Amino acid sequence: MTDVVELLRQLVSISSVSRESNRPVIAFAQSVLAQAGWSFEEHCYLDPSGTEKLNLIAWPGAKTKQVELALVCHTDTVPYSADWPEATTLVADEGDLKGCGACDVKGFLACILAAASEIDPARLGKPLAIVLTADEEIGCAGVRRLVDLDAIRPKLAVVGEPTSLRPIRAGKGYCLAEVAVVGREAHSAFPDKGVSAIHSAAKLIVEIEKIAESLKNLRAEEFSPPHTTINIGEIRGGLAKNIVPPYCKFLLEWRPIAGQDPSLVPDLVQEAIAKLSEADADFGCELKVLRTQEGFSAAEDSRLVRALASASGNAPGSVAFGTEAPWLRKMGAEAVVFGPGSMLSAHSPREFVPQAELLRCVEILKAVVDDLCA
Ligand SMILES: [Zn+2]
Repeated sequence: MTDVVELLRQLVSISSVSRESNRPVIAFAQSVLAQAGWSFEEHCYLDPSGTEKLNLIAWPGAKTKQVELALVCHTDTVPYSADWPEATTLVADEGDLKGCGACDVKGFLACILAAASEIDPARLGKPLAIVLTADEEIGCAGVRRLVDLDAIRPKLAVVGEPTSLRPIRAGKGYCLAEVAVVGREAHSAFPDKGVSAIHSAAKLIVEIEKIAESLKNLRAEEFSPPHTTINIGEIRGGLAKNIVPPYCKFLLEWRPIAGQDPSLVPDLVQEAIAKLSEADADFGCELKVLRTQEGFSAAEDSRLVRALASASGNAPGSVAFGTEAPWLRKMGAEAVVFGPGSMLSAHSPREFVPQAELLRCVEILKAVVDDLCA
């Protein structure tokens, strides 16, 4: 079975929300690849809730750790809401195929399975692999395991995500920290008896704004905007209108440009905290980094970027959303993000992939494999 639309219909019908085991969707992919004579290696683990998860590496020939090209695709989807009864039924609508995971990222998965079924292993001079991962939508937990295990070392990697068939050679990182500012509770009629955590947080936030301004000088033109950005997306503090607030917490998010150490921002914020503490003994604050994912970029003239650009007819670009590409970088691969459909419809009940892009993607993948692995 190599009809890519039929493959996508089957893949969408197998629910693989991150909280569920991805074994059924992996088993389906394995059955398609087995028919094409591929060999496999399974890497199983239990997620924090005790659910079995699987990463799968597949080869058209003999198993080998060093491969020229890896086609990488996650197998989980974000949850779909109860009022989307057709989430796991692929619905065709004027050239678009709708369903949960249609573009993020079962569309690309269907394409690599269809392409794999048509690749003649005898024609490959250099090794190829397909890498299917679990838990991408919840912090890339699956691919991290493969990095820790040193399970595979691709030279080049195409990471599937919806990019409307544009090769994406650079992406910003994604980092998050929680900042907890402490004060001292008191009756608001006697503010001198307390320390307002909200006033302290406000002072720190002014300093963080200055840091955000200074980051604009470290430019990377492949991104828009061409610098690291900072966002304070949530803030909570205080107990009641007549109490001097004893605490204030906020979430600090930053998206570092490729090549920048993701700890630059928390280091600068720590410096600001140290200065505020020096100036005022009552200033108390703790910064806890929750997540650091660095950015990635491949050279514009790299073989992989050129192969994808020429096969797709689309110029390379960059993205602001998180992907598994930085983890492929850690494996030593030059990584490019690519796939049918657009992230604009992903993570919503409007999710769809244009059928024409799906069909084109299969041909592009076959051409790129020919180009890079022949
Ligand atoms: Zn995705």
